[in-house]
Amino acid sequence: MPEATKLKPQAAAPLDRDSAAAVGQMIAGYGPHEDTIRQAMASLEEATSDLCEVEETIDNEAFVQLDADYRELVDAQAEAKTRKTSLEALLRRLEGEPTVLDPATEYSNLTCEQLEAYSALTTRKKYGQSQEYVSFRESAWAAVEDSAMPPINEFLPAEQGDEDDDDDDIQVGGTRQDYKCPYSAKLLIDPVSSTGCPHSYDRESILSYVGKGEKVCPASACNVKLSHRSLKPDPRLAKRVAAYRRREESRILSAPGTMIE
Ligand SMILES: [Zn+2]
Repeated sequence: MPEATKLKPQAAAPLDRDSAAAVGQMIAGYGPHEDTIRQAMASLEEATSDLCEVEETIDNEAFVQLDADYRELVDAQAEAKTRKTSLEALLRRLEGEPTVLDPATEYSNLTCEQLEAYSALTTRKKYGQSQEYVSFRESAWAAVEDSAMPPINEFLPAEQGDEDDDDDDIQVGGTRQDYKCPYSAKLLIDPVSSTGCPHSYDRESILSYVGKGEKVCPASACNVKLSHRSLKPDPRLAKRVAAYRRREESRILSAPGTMIE
């Protein structure tokens, strides 16, 4: 579990424009840190869905622990983003003014304010609106269930502060109904997902449909334009489809009368 980086400017002295390069380097340092968090998220998601598939449930202690671990990664991701944003704000100030008189205090105030704002958010706002967390829950769900996952908020009880803006539009999750390509109706063995809408397709079929230009997403009631560049491989979805197929196979094999030979 990567510890959230404790990063504070060492200098008590004013920062001048020459220091901008140093701040720039600190900002760049967040790239690898954020990659590490993303990798940890992907590994944890994979391990969790494997475990759920073996246990055939998400309703146990083990899952609760893994879920808590995943939430820590979401928090770490939010913290890294906050710190990076504060440094970027500091850098912009450095470019506008000859010196920032007390950069350490300024950075620390800016960061503290935002970290406090984050920690005051409700569970739904912290995790229910994290694409990564929703994906984590979807993988665990798909390892056990055939139906589409209910909206994420079903797993996240409302807290004070959730009632006033219980907005269904913001809610993510519960979108992938089946594992069929909306264009070819093929099972999504090798899926690509659209970056502009929540739809996924069979790679070969959709690429031949889109060709070199732009085409409207073939999912019903979706008007998003698709291009070659807006379609990305989706290994997580591929894994869910694989789990779905394994369940289908074992169901067919265990149902009496379906074995011909
Ligand atoms: Zn679409």
